[in-house]
Amino acid sequence: MASIRLENVVKRYANGHVAVQPTSLAVADGEFLVLVGPSGCGKSTTLRMIAGLEEVTGGRIFIGDRCVNVLSPGKRDVAMVFQNYALYPHMTVRDNLSFGLRMRRTPKGDIQKRVGDAAEILSIESLLDRRPAELSGGQRQRVAVGRAIVRQPAAFLFDEPLSNLDARLRVQMRKELAQLHHRFRTTTVYVTHDQVEAMTLGERIAVMHEGVLQQVATPLELYDRPANRFVATFMGSPAMNLLGGRVVGKDTRTSHAVFQCGTIRYPLATTTEAVEPAASRTLGFRPEHLTLDDRHLPLAIVSVGVVEQLGSETLVYFQLEGQPCVARLDGQTAVRRGDRLSLHLPARRWFLFDDCEPFRLVARGKRGSEEEEK
Ligand code: ADP
Repeated sequence: MASIRLENVVKRYANGHVAVQPTSLAVADGEFLVLVGPSGCGKSTTLRMIAGLEEVTGGRIFIGDRCVNVLSPGKRDVAMVFQNYALYPHMTVRDNLSFGLRMRRTPKGDIQKRVGDAAEILSIESLLDRRPAELSGGQRQRVAVGRAIVRQPAAFLFDEPLSNLDARLRVQMRKELAQLHHRFRTTTVYVTHDQVEAMTLGERIAVMHEGVLQQVATPLELYDRPANRFVATFMGSPAMNLLGGRVVGKDTRTSHAVFQCGTIRYPLATTTEAVEPAASRTLGFRPEHLTLDDRHLPLAIVSVGVVEQLGSETLVYFQLEGQPCVARLDGQTAVRRGDRLSLHLPARRWFLFDDCEPFRLVARGKRGSEEEEK
């Protein structure tokens, strides 16, 4: 096993497009790091540079203590699992699993044992004599993972490995990959565009946007302390609501700064200097933090638009000063289109973002201060 380190790594493709801006990132030995971001943000390029499938334009990549910049993929001791499985169609599952080891002239007994172990771990023993065409998508993905396991590499690199599976299978494989990591603790870099997959699998998550690394943090840190507006809205579903407005003076009663957007006035229970009066700011609040409970601070009385009743939760869409918002309420909430709803937002649940690039988080409600709520 080994750590992985990127130092100011840059990728400019032959056509001049810079897919990865200077990026530094350290993955600890044994860590499961997820690289997440929207399609085209440079995740795969980054992973492929670690694997050696793309050359770096600048910077250095280390696997363990070795700078691997000039090493071919085969010499980097990493195993990659692709979205499209990349199995050899004419070979049986057994041969697919053992192929890499045979090429490395691993002793026969060793190969048999490793293939047997991997097949058992992944419950594919009964499929060993089949060919890929005779397998389901889920089974093929297991074989692809098995092929990485038998190599016993220093690190696993996963490129959207579950994207081709149906929703149920994806959830199951996700759990199995987590268990696999728990068991072997092999250093892993896992690329996905799916923020739920990132939150559930990653010990730490690196969020990318337009070739730039935005934040690297644990799942809960990302959710609680997003570095900027992009991270805040990318992580979480439905996405965080945003309301453009200004910070206007102080509330005479509470002496809290007040955020104003049209007729909405929301006291920001904080003394943080970042909340300066008159500054143009964006208020962020998560759909799941809006409540009908009037013990919390009032945000607005809204007119209900579309309602989605999902059983476990009710999603209520509405406009706030012309800006689309959504609340995630209890599944039993009886509410219909056109209803008037008084929505409340706990004092510790707001985020305040700067109004120019990179839209940094400048302040947020103080956590663990329930008594601050009126
Ligand atoms: P992601 O994995 O986040 O979807 P990629 O790393 O595949 O993104 O691609 C990042 C950007 O680089 C995209 O804009 C993509 O179009 C571009 N790109 C990828 N491969 C090449 C290439 N071989 N030549 C030029 N541009 C490329």
